[in-house]
Amino acid sequence: MVSRVIPVEPFDLVIFGGTGDLARRKILPGLFRRFLAGQMTPDSRIIGAARADLDAQGYRDMIRQGIAEFGGPESTDGDGLAQFLARLDYVSIDATGEAGWQQLSGLMRPGVIRAFYFSVAPALFGALAERLHQHGIADPDSRIVVEKPFGRDLDSARALNHTLAEHFREGQIYRIDHYLGKETVQNLMAVRFGNILFEPLWNHHYVDHIQITVAETVGVEGRGGYYDKSGAMRDMVQNHLMQLLCLIAMEPPSLFEAGAVRDEKLKVIRALKPIAAHHIVRGQYDSNGDGPSYREEADNPRSFTESFIALRAEIANWRWAGVPFYLRTGKKLRARHSEIAVVFKDLPHSIFEGDEKRHRNILSIRLQPNEGIDLQVTIKEPGPGGMRLIDRPLDMTFATALGEEAAEAPDAYERLIMDVIRGNQTLFMRGDEVEAAWAWTDPIIAGWERRNDVPKLYDPGTSGPDDSLMLLHREGRRWREIRG
Ligand code: NAD
Repeated sequence: MVSRVIPVEPFDLVIFGGTGDLARRKILPGLFRRFLAGQMTPDSRIIGAARADLDAQGYRDMIRQGIAEFGGPESTDGDGLAQFLARLDYVSIDATGEAGWQQLSGLMRPGVIRAFYFSVAPALFGALAERLHQHGIADPDSRIVVEKPFGRDLDSARALNHTLAEHFREGQIYRIDHYLGKETVQNLMAVRFGNILFEPLWNHHYVDHIQITVAETVGVEGRGGYYDKSGAMRDMVQNHLMQLLCLIAMEPPSLFEAGAVRDEKLKVIRALKPIAAHHIVRGQYDSNGDGPSYREEADNPRSFTESFIALRAEIANWRWAGVPFYLRTGKKLRARHSEIAVVFKDLPHSIFEGDEKRHRNILSIRLQPNEGIDLQVTIKEPGPGGMRLIDRPLDMTFATALGEEAAEAPDAYERLIMDVIRGNQTLFMRGDEVEAAWAWTDPIIAGWERRNDVPKLYDPGTSGPDDSLMLLHREGRRWREIRG
């Protein structure tokens, strides 16, 4: 069964930073796939805008290489690629100066959707917004897409919101969090709100706790300079893990629509309790002889930045009173593994004599690898010998359950860019959400700075520092295994 693709309206998409790593690795290969799928129609155009002195042909050559390297199996479609590259143009531009802006203005077509992707350092967002207006390039329906990081604390996020608001309405601003574009994350909402089965159990009466894990095997590598000023809390928890937490914990919105969904997410963030210091474990990877330590990679021998964090959060509302949300993310861990697990409570009474083992229903939503959802249920072990119980997953790995359709699903970036063109902000963060998330993380980070908190060292290839295990052990719980 082949999925139905609805083409989006014709657009002019300008990618500021169009020669950068993100554009070459994700944005353009993604757009190429949408072109091949027929979602981006041939009357749309993509204009790269960056500092490099290139002409349109030079840019097409650069993107051809990018697609060959990062584009996956589709990159061999020679005809499709030639047609796609013909839709590309390029302007050499200075975000903070005057060069290139007149030329860009001359390239924009009337009567098509205009979108501007700010795939540059956040310090340039204000200058871009201002010049788009000065030169009359942005019209009242234009959209801007802004990349992470959106600020590094509440003050800087507020300042950034303020700067963008000088030139664009909130309805024109698309703050990207690519986790929200993942198929499974959207499926989480389909499972929660499309089935009668789960919602009645989705509260403190039936849920024991929730675990959210985003584990990576890579270190900071070439990004050490940026990462060392950021750390796992700012780079992952404040945005990606927070967004996952919101989708798990929010009340059912009245409609699957941007305003309603984002209102409910905001309520969750605002209901997060402040965290006590002993409910957070920070870690930093050491060297195990094979590879460099974090400090070596970040080129900062005295760095106290965390490459791992585990924490226990609580949401102060009726639905979730007393239910711990354990969040954990880190680099150089045992496997590349991201999942959300909803661990339900024990049975109030077991009728099966001699069955001492604790059986628990666990709903696990896997983001990677093998995107899918499974529900651990207790069944009878087959065969004679009485009533012995075992736990087995009802497995819905998308690739197996949905076959070709799952394989064809757009990746996060492509889906989100198409949403920008459709004018659908449901899967983007609103300004007040981002600020509320910083308002929660700021005091935590300030506490570390005040105490000169030193992260615990951990060996690469493990599950992080032992203290992270203790975070759950002391409450009679355990982390789910990190496995690839
Ligand atoms: P990069 O350094 O590879 O590219 C930067 C781009 O900005 C280049 O095209 C450069 O020409 C352009 N640029 C720089 N100064 C300019 C100026 N004054 N005027 C015009 N253009 C200018 O950066 P990147 O890795 O592609 O990241 C871009 C943005 O995306 C950043 O905000 C980053 O935080 C974010 N981001 C990147 C990734 C990633 O995987 N690379 C992931 C998430 C978010």
